[in-house]
Amino acid sequence: MDTNITIIGAGVVGLAIAAKLSETFPDVFVLEKHDNFGQETSSRNSEVIHSGIYYPADSLKASLCVEGNRMLYDYCIKKDVNHKKCGKLVVATDQPEEEILLKVFKQSKINGVLDGLLLTKDQALKLEPNIFCTAAIFYPSTGIVDSHGLMKRLESDAVINQATFAYNAEVVGIEKLEMGYLISVKEASGTYSFTANTVINAAGLASDEIAGLSGTFEPSYKLYFWKGSYFGVGNRKNKLIEHLVYPVPHENTTGLGVHATLDLNHGMKLGPDATFLENKKIDYTVPKTRQADFYQAARKFLPFLEEGDIHPDQAGIRPKLQKPGDPTSDFIIKDEHAKGMPGFINLIGIESPGLTSCLSIAKMVSRFSIFAK
Ligand SMILES: Cc1cc2nc3c(=O)[nH]c(=O)nc-3n(C[C@H](O)[C@H](O)[C@H](O)COP(=O)(O)OP(=O)(O)OC[C@H]3O[C@@H](n4cnc5c(N)ncnc54)[C@H](O)[C@@H]3O)c2cc1C
Repeated sequence: MDTNITIIGAGVVGLAIAAKLSETFPDVFVLEKHDNFGQETSSRNSEVIHSGIYYPADSLKASLCVEGNRMLYDYCIKKDVNHKKCGKLVVATDQPEEEILLKVFKQSKINGVLDGLLLTKDQALKLEPNIFCTAAIFYPSTGIVDSHGLMKRLESDAVINQATFAYNAEVVGIEKLEMGYLISVKEASGTYSFTANTVINAAGLASDEIAGLSGTFEPSYKLYFWKGSYFGVGNRKNKLIEHLVYPVPHENTTGLGVHATLDLNHGMKLGPDATFLENKKIDYTVPKTRQADFYQAARKFLPFLEEGDIHPDQAGIRPKLQKPGDPTSDFIIKDEHAKGMPGFINLIGIESPGLTSCLSIAKMVSRFSIFAK
C-alpha cells in the first residue's frame, strides 16, 4: 500500500483524527482541497466550547460533547492554545420560557453536565447586570477557544508524528480494491491515484458526496445545508456582558436561537440564525436586510442594544442530516465494514458541537476495531 491511513479533509475533525492516529500509526496522509487547513466550517463558527446540555441523552452529540469539553480544556492548557472558560447563561424572559429553562436544566443533568446553577432573576443580574431575564441557568464549564490556534496546534502535532499533508488536493474518486482502496486526487498539475489501507471521510459539507464516491452512501446520509449568519455588536456595547448569553431553545431547533457570543478579544457577535439553503449553494454573505430580525431577537434579553449598534459579520454553513420539520439528528461516525468496506470510515453531519467534540471524535475513531493492535 502507498499509505496506511488517508484522511479526507483538514477541518478541525480531520486534523484531530490525524493528530491522534499518527501517535500510534505510521503513514498517515491528509488530503485537503483548499490551500490550507480550516477554510470551511471550522473557521466559520462561534468558537464556543459547549458543555453538552441540549442534546438527547443517548446521542453521540451529548456524550462526545461532554467528553470533548473536558478533553479540549486539557489540550488547550497543555498545548498553550488560547481559550477562556467564561461560562454561559441561558435566560428565560417570561413564565413559559421559565418552564423550558427547567427542561434544559433537567436534560443537562441527564447528560452529565453537573455544574449548572439555577438562578433567580436577582442572582442572574448579579452576574450580568445589563441583561433582562426572569430566571437563568449558569454553566461555568462553557467557554471559548481560538479555533485557528487549535487547528494550527493539531496540524503541528500530526506533522511532528510524521503525518503528511497535501493541500490543493481534491479527492475525486474512491475505488474498493481486493485489499484497501484506490484514491484519485485532482491537483492543479493533473490527476493521480494511490492506495490506502484505511480511508477516513472527514469532508464536512462534502462528506455525503465522498460517501457517494465510495459507494457507501445511503439516503440517511444526505446532507442539508443550513446557513448561520452573525451580526457584530459595536458602539462599545460589547463591553456590557462578560459571559455568553443564550435564550432558551425552542422545539426541534435547527440552531440554538440568536444568542450573544464573545471572542477572545471581547468582541461580541449575535447569532447564528438558521436559514435552510434549498439549493445547497455556498454563499457566506450576510445581508443587511436581516438586521431588524437579529435586533428584535436579541433585544429581548439585551435591552441595552439599539438597532444601529449591530452590523453584518460572518456566516457559516451547517452540514445537517435534517431538513425543515425533521426531528433533531445525530452525528454519523461509522466504519462501513457491514457494507463490505472494512476500514472505510464515514463522519457525516458533523455540525455543532463538532468543534467542542473534535478530540473525543478522534478518540472514538481510534478505538474502531480496524485500529486494534
Ligand atoms: C454557524 C456555525 C456555528 C458553529 N458553532 C460552533 C460552536 O460554537 N461550537 C462547536 O463545538 N461547534 C460549532 N459549530 C460546528 C463546527 O464548526 C463543526 O462541527 C466543525 O467545524 C466541523 O469540522 P469538520 O472538520 O468536520 O468540517 P470542515 O471544517 O468543513 O472541514 C472539512 C474539510 O474537508 C475538505 N474537503 C471537502 N471535500 C473534499 C475533497 N473532495 N477533497 C479534499 N478535501 C475536501 C474541506 O475543504 C474542508 O476543509 C458551528 C457550525 C456553524 C456552521
